[in-house]
Amino acid sequence: MVVALPCEAMSNSTTKQPNKSYAFALHGGAGAIAGRNYAIVEEHLGDLTATCQAMLEDGKAALEVVEFAVMELENSGMYVAGRGSAPNSAGYVELDASIMHGPSREAGAVAALPGFENPICIARGVMEKTPHVLLAGTGAQAFAREHGYTEVLNPNEYYVLPVGVTEQDLNESSAHGTVGAVALDRSGELAAATSTGGTFGKLEGRVGDTPLIGPGTWADDNIAISCTGIGEHIIRAGGAVSIACAYKAGVALDAAVQDMLDEVKRLGGDAGVIAVSRDLGIAMPYNSDGMKRASVSSQQALFVRTFASQN
Ligand code: ASP
Repeated sequence: MVVALPCEAMSNSTTKQPNKSYAFALHGGAGAIAGRNYAIVEEHLGDLTATCQAMLEDGKAALEVVEFAVMELENSGMYVAGRGSAPNSAGYVELDASIMHGPSREAGAVAALPGFENPICIARGVMEKTPHVLLAGTGAQAFAREHGYTEVLNPNEYYVLPVGVTEQDLNESSAHGTVGAVALDRSGELAAATSTGGTFGKLEGRVGDTPLIGPGTWADDNIAISCTGIGEHIIRAGGAVSIACAYKAGVALDAAVQDMLDEVKRLGGDAGVIAVSRDLGIAMPYNSDGMKRASVSSQQALFVRTFASQN
């Protein structure tokens, strides 16, 4: 379902208008497997979405809300991100995360970062404390240590198997998961954030779409987007920024998102997208088995689901 107010003809791009409305969506990854039980996940996503709704009603900034949501998802261990991440083929966890503030286009990201508890906060640190957008590998690790982010010192104790994932799945290189959040706040600002442990069994140093500003995460004055799915296909399909460009050119939100997903499918992958637009549109389609997802807005009641394609 797409909840959208009428927008101006021809183009979806206008200058930012302060409004009293808000919209929010989050996902726990498009790697949901048919037949598995995600009831606990749906309860968690519903509670977290209600908390984020209260933050937005209180006037909190979209950037704060998406960082908070992703941090909570990382900490839960229920998803393939943060605490729920699995080791790469060399036997250790490498994390990817990114965050973007729409109005300023400021963005920060970390890629192939060895174990820290909250890569999304480190991504925000890159945005605010360096002149760069993306730090990777040992450089990202050095930055995180220098700025005192919490490191995972006992990986065997810290990391857990996410809900719906079996030991067997860890040997399936096509299995994957991610978390993400997008928000429109009451001052009309948009922001997006995404975090992942990546695909299972990935090669050491492999980087997917998640930490890439453009494919995995995008926010501007019109739209905020977080992608999930097999990163290699999302990158080659253009990902989030291709949706933003189509939307800016006047394509309807749901059509812009679907076009990108169709291209991922054509390339042989599967994916899901969450997007909110400045006119309160919310889109959450996917072409995998299922996507753990939730949304709410000043005009739409809380929605939570994993399977069934209605949004
Ligand atoms: N996009 C993530 C990656 O390729 C995985 C996922 O979203 O499920 O690393």
